[in-house]
Amino acid sequence: MHSPDRRRQAETLLASGLSLSACARLSGVARSTLRTWRDTSPTPRGLECPRCSDAPLVPEVYAALLGYYLGDGCVSTARRCFALRISCDIAYPEIIVDVRRLLETTHPSAATHLVRAPGCVVVQKAWKHWPCLLPQHGPGPKHSRPIVLEDWQRTILESHPAPFLRGLFHSDGSRVSNRVRRMVAGRMKYYVYPRWQFTNYSDDIRELCCWALDLVDVPWRQSNRHHISVSTRAGVARLDELIGLKQ
Ligand SMILES: [Zn+2]
Repeated sequence: MHSPDRRRQAETLLASGLSLSACARLSGVARSTLRTWRDTSPTPRGLECPRCSDAPLVPEVYAALLGYYLGDGCVSTARRCFALRISCDIAYPEIIVDVRRLLETTHPSAATHLVRAPGCVVVQKAWKHWPCLLPQHGPGPKHSRPIVLEDWQRTILESHPAPFLRGLFHSDGSRVSNRVRRMVAGRMKYYVYPRWQFTNYSDDIRELCCWALDLVDVPWRQSNRHHISVSTRAGVARLDELIGLKQ
């Protein structure tokens, strides 16, 4: 027996157009149950705003979306509406799919557009309620203004730090390999040490990244003014497991 909240979350995922298998994986509800709910659901969801109504917000989806927004996203005015735009590196097609899925799950009833730009794809969707969900929006670049989370956002991230970190690192992060040369028993050997790096000009956003890393017990260090590094073997392995590789 599933709680009404879980059912609402699962129905929101279904309404986004994801496959039954994907919905089952994200919601933890069996495919057969989801199929029954899909086939008997009275109304499609999608127009409601989780902040202005009691429409459900899938916390792990929201946490990832917020991470991507703080990384490479912006909310801008588009006619009398707002548009959320998230720039994705063309080299990582699975991240583009991930971002698209997050937008479609959050607001299923409007079209999501993929716009080609030099070296990247901008995933965008218009909705008048983006400022409700992303109250950090404002004029100018994010590093030129304070980025302070509201209490309800902090509560979501405290229970879902991993998808938030996925959004941050898959947009403004990179996983690099350091190649080190060492003389061992008279012979030169090469060792490769992977590490994650997060780069952002906003002190507030870097601080949020460090806060979330602390929540999942991943050690980090400030490697220079704008970079946060995760470089211990255990820390890199833990982050790999939590957020997946960029691909
Ligand atoms: Zn709203």
